[in-house]
Amino acid sequence: MSEKKTALVTGANKGIGYEIAAGLGALGWSVGVGARDQTRRNDAVARLREADVDAFAVPLDVTDDSSVAAAADLLVRRVGHLDALINNAGITGGGPQQPSTVDLDIIRTVVETNVIGVIRVTNAMLPLLRQSAAPRIVNVSSSVGSLTRQSGPASETTTGPVSVAYAPSKTFLNAVMLQYVQELADTNILINAACPGFVATDLNGFRGIRTPAQGATTVIRLATLPDDGPTGGFFEDAGSVPW
Ligand code: NAP
Repeated sequence: MSEKKTALVTGANKGIGYEIAAGLGALGWSVGVGARDQTRRNDAVARLREADVDAFAVPLDVTDDSSVAAAADLLVRRVGHLDALINNAGITGGGPQQPSTVDLDIIRTVVETNVIGVIRVTNAMLPLLRQSAAPRIVNVSSSVGSLTRQSGPASETTTGPVSVAYAPSKTFLNAVMLQYVQELADTNILINAACPGFVATDLNGFRGIRTPAQGATTVIRLATLPDDGPTGGFFEDAGSVPW
């Protein structure tokens, strides 16, 4: 089995996930490119390999039990361990997301991907993470899931458009993460949440003001934490994000 550090990045075919894969690859990691669409997945792996990244394809739809189980099997056979799981795949669900008029199916769909998908993937990968000497889990969250920032004085908030599906899904994700932190307290698994900032990607019609590579910075830092690094935190480039 490989001794090289290996990461799995979900939703790595584009946007921030692709840059997380590229950044970890530049640090010498082997990176599993978790992506649901075969063409987009293979294109991303090819581009990463052209950039000298040791990338390999991992077919992965985070909403599909059998797909996630197959991804774990692939990693067991190929690597035998996982040093970092980056739960990056996410959707906004589209709009409009006014609480009083929202289509409830949008909420279900967003939670299925952004929250249940993370639980599904994390649980499938935990046996592999337990085989690592220094396992890390990073959930790509968002400061729009910060209750403090959502409820602070208007001048201090960083709220985006009203989004009763997307923003609360990240709050839910953060709460779920803290449950994992409690359960895994007696292990060496460090698990943290990262906000990439407002990044120009498909997710927001490229209205973001940061590049995907800038958005990947904190995620990569948390994936490569030293053994005495934090666990159970919520971070952006500038430091901690309030819950
Ligand atoms: P993006 O460019 O739209 O990328 C999202 C990725 O998630 C794509 O690879 C997409 O794959 C994948 N994905 C969606 N549903 C999936 C599923 N069921 N199974 C597997 N992969 C799936 O968006 P992004 O901005 O890079 O977003 C990455 C993460 O950052 C998300 O969690 C997002 O909430 C978070 N975030 C983004 C911003 C921002 O300003 N952009 C801010 C805060 C947090 P397909 O190509 O197949 O759709």
